[in-house]
Amino acid sequence: MKRYQPNEIFIERGEEDTPVVRRALARLPDVPVRLVDKGWEREAPAAGLADPFAVGKRRLLFARQRSTFLEHCPAGTPGLVCCNYLVVSLISNCPMDCSYCFLQEYLANNPTLKVFTNVEDLLREVAAVVDRQPWRQFRIGTGELSDSLALDPLLDFSADLVPFFAARQNVLVELKTKSDCIEGLLALDPSERVVVSWSLTPPEIADTEEHYTASFAARLEAARRVQAVGYKLGFHLDPLIEYPGWEEGYRDTVARIFSTLDPRRVAWVSLGSLRLTPALRTTIRRRFPHTRLLSGEQVPCADGKWRTFQALRVRMYRALTGWLKEAAPEVPLYMCMETAPVWEKVFGRAPTCDKEVARTLTEPNLVGLST
Ligand code: SF4
Repeated sequence: MKRYQPNEIFIERGEEDTPVVRRALARLPDVPVRLVDKGWEREAPAAGLADPFAVGKRRLLFARQRSTFLEHCPAGTPGLVCCNYLVVSLISNCPMDCSYCFLQEYLANNPTLKVFTNVEDLLREVAAVVDRQPWRQFRIGTGELSDSLALDPLLDFSADLVPFFAARQNVLVELKTKSDCIEGLLALDPSERVVVSWSLTPPEIADTEEHYTASFAARLEAARRVQAVGYKLGFHLDPLIEYPGWEEGYRDTVARIFSTLDPRRVAWVSLGSLRLTPALRTTIRRRFPHTRLLSGEQVPCADGKWRTFQALRVRMYRALTGWLKEAAPEVPLYMCMETAPVWEKVFGRAPTCDKEVARTLTEPNLVGLST
């Protein structure tokens, strides 16, 4: 996978001497740098360019986060089964460019890839929440508004995050990626508290719809290497894409995961259908006119998103759960952003409360929806 290279670097005044800025500048000695005022990006010209969203990904901005870092995952929408996941974002926007990515809508008017410089505030905020509730098990992810590891060769955030979470017995942190940027993880001790997870689609989809990501084979090899040094793994078969040959493609994907990796060290596998808002569909059609994402049949759902129609969705989920249970019967499975009736059709029952899915994933020996 080609490492990210911005065209320009912007630094908010006062942040020049922060550790992350110094690290990045040392690794990008030839990229032009400008100091900018706080809030500069709101005025930064991007509109009028042919593809402002793509241009924004190459403008790397370092700025201070002035609001809170820790939030509930926005996927916890009323009417959908929730897994009680928390997210923290040190980066907003992603160097990669998947054709289905929701950031194209969520950050449509954002002209930069923004990195927050005050990681110590994030750690302080998380510590204040999780250390006060030692009896509660938390799952926290860093891959909501960006890829968790794609910028690690530049920023080294894993060197801040892994030791912090490794020291806490009541948190699992998830580093979610489509990259193979795992070098920074290899010398760190995860102490069973870090799950490195990969989003996977079959190679024919990854090659055509997930631009600038690591190949399917490179992701699996990266997973094998981090598993070998003690990390737990997770996988997200999300979004599931229907295409001619999807059954063979996904069956082979599951087989390749579990012929490469030890299922006893896989913390979870999630499934999710392709879900697009009308505005995102319009953007995808404009930015990726040759995509095959929009050729399948989708229907509007109560949360305003369009999904693969339910009968096909359930057929895909059942096929995937069948192959997964055959290959790795003990690995907890769950679905992202699905309704209780779909859970019932796929797993035979829906969770009784939103904490049940979370407990399945943090304490898999206590509750097992997938077994
Ligand atoms: S890797 Fe994730 S965040 Fe990055 S472009 Fe793809 S879907 Fe979006």
